[in-house]
Amino acid sequence: MQSSKTPVSGILIQFNEELNTAYAVLHISNQRIKLNQKTTEVLLPRPMFPGDTAKLEFRLHYKWYPVNGHHPFNAMVANGSFMRISRYYPVIGYQSSTEITDSFVRKKAWHGSCYNLARTRSSCYQSNRFHTAGYDHFNNIRSNSYWYRLLVRRWKAGNRSFYRYQSGQLIPFRFAIASARYAVQKSAYKNIPVYVYYHPSHGENVAQLMKNARLTLDYCIKNFGQYPFPSLTFAEVSSFTRGFNATAYPSVIFMAERLAFHANLKAGRQQDVINELAGHETAHLWWGNNQVAPDEREGAVMLTETLAMYTEMMLYKKLYGEKKKMRERLKMHQQIYESEKGYSSEMPLYKVNESSPHIAYSKGAIVMVQLCDLVGEDKLNAILRLFLQKYRYPHRATTIDFLQILYQYTHPDQHRAIKAMFTGI
Ligand SMILES: [Zn+2]
Repeated sequence: MQSSKTPVSGILIQFNEELNTAYAVLHISNQRIKLNQKTTEVLLPRPMFPGDTAKLEFRLHYKWYPVNGHHPFNAMVANGSFMRISRYYPVIGYQSSTEITDSFVRKKAWHGSCYNLARTRSSCYQSNRFHTAGYDHFNNIRSNSYWYRLLVRRWKAGNRSFYRYQSGQLIPFRFAIASARYAVQKSAYKNIPVYVYYHPSHGENVAQLMKNARLTLDYCIKNFGQYPFPSLTFAEVSSFTRGFNATAYPSVIFMAERLAFHANLKAGRQQDVINELAGHETAHLWWGNNQVAPDEREGAVMLTETLAMYTEMMLYKKLYGEKKKMRERLKMHQQIYESEKGYSSEMPLYKVNESSPHIAYSKGAIVMVQLCDLVGEDKLNAILRLFLQKYRYPHRATTIDFLQILYQYTHPDQHRAIKAMFTGI
């Protein structure tokens, strides 16, 4: 619910394809409202005020097809199931993330009528701040998995085990389930327990992963502020999972078997895939989408990926010394940027969107290291720490907020160069 005092008399509920709407019911004021369409506009029996409660009951199912190839988004295998479960939850209210983004399609006539839609919200970096209803305390999930800090209840019904976990703090609405017969290694850094859950026969890189985790915690805590969660967990997931090699959820980093856990680190060009994945993803626990939850608009990806890339570069410096590995990695990112930029329209870093990862990741890494050379690493880290203090979630930060802080704490003589880095092409 939005924070205004205005009551709402109707809500829009949208279900993902995988949700079985035959079982979806909204309970409000002792009434049961059945929802059996993908998108339903519900007229409420009484107006709801901020803080009011209603209960939405639903079931979801997921299956994959063994015929014609196996291309699942999630992994459902004998020893290693994984599901990014928050993606399957019904969403409430207007969803700017599902807007038609193609400006031609937005304008064109269709079936005799004309969309003639205005610019999308997310296409403008100067839009008003907008709060979606999707972010909330994550305090009510049951499953047969191991994650999250507080196991508040466990019980058995029939042959199934149920566990109820609670996050204990405000986190962005993102959670996933991984369930397998894991081997576990535990270590600690400054009283923060670090766990690695891995397939019992994939233990070859666990020691290096632990070392990298301690180093990343050390750098980020020293420079950006306290680690926000009670523990840090790395979990191996099956290579059947699509869409990432590693991904950071609040306090848990999921990493695929093929590139991290069961990869030969000595092969090929000896890139440090552990730092590339574990260092980068652990850094995300300070930036978007964990402590920073960028407002959905142009530039949002700069507050997630560019800041994680900067941290990854500084970790290379700390691990290997400046000249060697970090400059090597920057050279590779320069090549990626050069080879990709011809395929899409160029946009400045502060307006970058997800369709241009070569700008958010590769150009972002280069720009942040240039900025670091210009103002000094300690100074830049102090500015990043201030940005985080001021715009920590539940604030919805924008790249304009970031640039304002950057200009405020740097010398006016440096502003021309900074402007060119972030707003130039
Ligand atoms: Zn990232």
